[in-house]
Amino acid sequence: MKKPAPCRAGVPEFTLSEVEGPAAPPPEIRTMKKLTLEQKLFLNGFRPDRESHLRIIDQAKCRECKLRQCTYICPVNSYRWENDQITVFFEGCLECGACRIACQDCKNLEWSYPRGGFGVNYRTG
Ligand code: SF4
Ligand code: SF4
Repeated sequence: MKKPAPCRAGVPEFTLSEVEGPAAPPPEIRTMKKLTLEQKLFLNGFRPDRESHLRIIDQAKCRECKLRQCTYICPVNSYRWENDQITVFFEGCLECGACRIACQDCKNLEWSYPRGGFGVNYRTG
């Protein structure tokens, strides 16, 4: 026996372009200048605490650390090798956690989020 056609009463008809989604953005948006990483970072707000939320446990371990991966994994260059030790510039930290992972074999980094009300404030939430 032949199956009856499904009832389409009250079902709105769509054209294919409506189903596919909105049209391409207008030309003024498509031609907007691309921002550099530094320009994007500049859009964030920071409220640094007085004390760092990132702490090197033992500088002697950092001297022995072969790769010093924290100095190149951080997107905002918070760790710098200066005067035979690691200096941490925590004020611009994005709280991404990459340095925590980078140092997990050495376990020489005490990592925490900044206290409530301090730290990065992402512009887009
Ligand atoms: S990765 Fe860890 S142990 Fe190595 S230099 Fe950085 S903080 Fe020090
Ligand atoms: S949490 Fe991210 S931004 Fe902050 S110091 Fe570590 S790697 Fe850099």
